[in-house]
Amino acid sequence: MAKSVDNIFEQFLASKSLFKNKRVLQANYTPTTIAHREDEISLIAKTLAPALKCDRPSNLFIYGKTGTGKTVSVRYVVNSLKQIAQEKNIPLKPIYINCKLKKVADTEYRIIAQIAREFGKDIPATGLPTEEIYNIFYQVLDEKAQIVLLVLDEIDQLVQKTGDEILYNLTRLNTELHQAQICLVGISNDVTFTDTLDPRVKSSLSEEEMIFPPYNATKLQKILENRAKDAFNDDSIENGVLEKCAAFAAREHGDARRALELLRVAGELAERDNVPKVAVSHLDLAEDKIERDRIVDIVAAQPKQFQVALFVILRLYERRKEMLFTGEVYENYKNLCQKVQLRPLTQRRISDIIQEMDMLGIINAKIVSKGRYGRSRDIKVSLPISVVENILTTLDEKLGVEL
Ligand code: ADP
Ligand code: MG
Repeated sequence: MAKSVDNIFEQFLASKSLFKNKRVLQANYTPTTIAHREDEISLIAKTLAPALKCDRPSNLFIYGKTGTGKTVSVRYVVNSLKQIAQEKNIPLKPIYINCKLKKVADTEYRIIAQIAREFGKDIPATGLPTEEIYNIFYQVLDEKAQIVLLVLDEIDQLVQKTGDEILYNLTRLNTELHQAQICLVGISNDVTFTDTLDPRVKSSLSEEEMIFPPYNATKLQKILENRAKDAFNDDSIENGVLEKCAAFAAREHGDARRALELLRVAGELAERDNVPKVAVSHLDLAEDKIERDRIVDIVAAQPKQFQVALFVILRLYERRKEMLFTGEVYENYKNLCQKVQLRPLTQRRISDIIQEMDMLGIINAKIVSKGRYGRSRDIKVSLPISVVENILTTLDEKLGVEL
């Protein structure tokens, strides 16, 4: 046994790595070139350029599906702008905030405090009344004549968490400021986001509006080629791999993030196989693995009641591999609750939870009418058995049940 483990390590050390720099394929890496976004980048640059002459640029609202290069393009333009402003001593203050981040942007208070902190103002994490925090914020902002360029990335998440009041306040800020001026750049992955906004907020936020269309397979392939050159050693990828990887991701709304992840995972699997090149078959395996991990992550983040109910369903399915009924699921669920010392929910609540599982794509639940006995759900598990086993193992650990 020890010998075979030694062998694995020896072999690993002797093998040539496929990767030159794996970090290049990670989502937070800043690529050296941004392909196929020349038009978008120059339009953003033209919109924001007046800031260099101390004129307030129009507020800009950018939307497009995930992985279409919005963040990377905006950051690129804002960085160049920042550099020029620094060189030429222009009073321009760019601030970038990703509203998806917890603790930064999950309340109106936090985000305003965060922006104020960007100006070097020390603000307690909680405790001040909202009005007071706005006052501090106006003051630091207005300390001198300057253009403040506030980029709110994933702005849809902010509004989801805090409502659109904050955007109303921010878009009206210029009427309160005497010296400084603020320009807002909002970025949203949700293309229908502005439909839900107060019309006044909507019109001032999108003085200029831009959409990032999805990449097609050819464009994704170019992006992958650029990144692969820096990420992999020469001759580490078989012909056809990048094409297929691009085709996979193009099928799913042209998401470059997904394409890069697929290539990275395929590379890791190939390396584990100890083969000299990434092959097309590794992409298939990578796709399965990513999907598996995604569902396991979702399940791991659910409340305990959900996990207990799912555990019961998957266990029953594992044994019987056929349709299940809500009634029997509920009986088994109550038993398991007793074992893990959890107070069982009503059948009605469990029914709601089963519907959530359906929405997450874990099961298919079909409502069937049982005549005068009311309605019940027929439950079918729609995951491959390997995924089911993975989830069961995760739940086993989480719930601490040995059944
Ligand atoms: P979005 O903000 O639209 O969801 P991102 O800008 O975060 O998308 O892009 C997702 C990933 O794909 C990032 O890793 C980014 O570096 C990469 N990417 C997207 N478009 C390009 C491009 N045109 N050239 C190089 N990399 C890109
Ligand atoms: Mg983004």
